[in-house]
Amino acid sequence: MRYSLGVDVGGTKILGAVVDEQGAIVAKTRVPTDQQEGLDALPEAIDRFLAEAEQPIGSIGLAVAGFVEYPSGRLLFAPNLSFSNPGIGEDISREYGFPVVVENDANAAAWAENRFGAGRGTRNMLMVTVGTGIGGGIICEGKLYRGSRGFGAEFGHIPVSVDGPACNCGSRGCLEAVASGTALGRMARERAPEHLDSEVLRLVGGNAEAITGAVVGKAADIRDPFAVELLWDLGTLLGVGLAGLAKAFDPEMIVVGGGVLAEGESILAAAREELAARYQGQVDPPVVVSASLGNDAGVVGAAQLSLEAAASRGIGEEHGG
Ligand SMILES: [Zn+2]
Repeated sequence: MRYSLGVDVGGTKILGAVVDEQGAIVAKTRVPTDQQEGLDALPEAIDRFLAEAEQPIGSIGLAVAGFVEYPSGRLLFAPNLSFSNPGIGEDISREYGFPVVVENDANAAAWAENRFGAGRGTRNMLMVTVGTGIGGGIICEGKLYRGSRGFGAEFGHIPVSVDGPACNCGSRGCLEAVASGTALGRMARERAPEHLDSEVLRLVGGNAEAITGAVVGKAADIRDPFAVELLWDLGTLLGVGLAGLAKAFDPEMIVVGGGVLAEGESILAAAREELAARYQGQVDPPVVVSASLGNDAGVVGAAQLSLEAAASRGIGEEHGG
């Protein structure tokens, strides 16, 4: 059995996992980081993960939320992560003598769901992650499709409205601005004055400005009509985005993951209904399913990509020598 270290670098923590070639996690460690450290805390964390690993590690895969250039693995932009060294992957590879793959976190998650999760067995699959923001990944003919430079599959920033709400990316009307967890909170704050007797408002002591997506989820758990309506509307907007993706790619399956789905199953139900409506009964829309690997998808996918990179280098050496 071959093992790889998968590492997921987030804004407040670095998650490290020893992953086998079947995609199973055999050990997992979480290192908290502060906002200032960001990616610069990575070398120390990797030292620790490798020291604690009981299995022989042959490669490292890093999943990072940002624009990762392909095939160089250089990190060019990461809006929510401070970093000072774009070539950190190369440096780590040099230090340990392992192949190190750096991959966009949603791409890594898509690969994991395709190889080992909900999308197993499909050759053309899309992954959409709906959390604070919206991310994406494309599996095309059994391969991870990254675009010409590695910056593809940014589904969250596909424009869906000509002059919609401002997006964190600086643009307007992006899918992320209307259908993410952040958008759920904004929609709830805007509509709260018309729902003064709602559980959503009661949970924040009547202070509409304090409403977040998570508050809406809590209220939906006890069937607050305002919260239920908000989740359905969010799902409908997500469905508009899925319809655009489905028409562009005609995938076998769209796998939807991310923390916002935990707020209620009606989000996916509404998204499926909207997707079907946009096909007008002409042909069946692609199947939409929930992701199955949860927060582990990033480390599993990154680890698997690094195993594959190591294997292909091994074959190259054999042929060369
Ligand atoms: Zn955007």
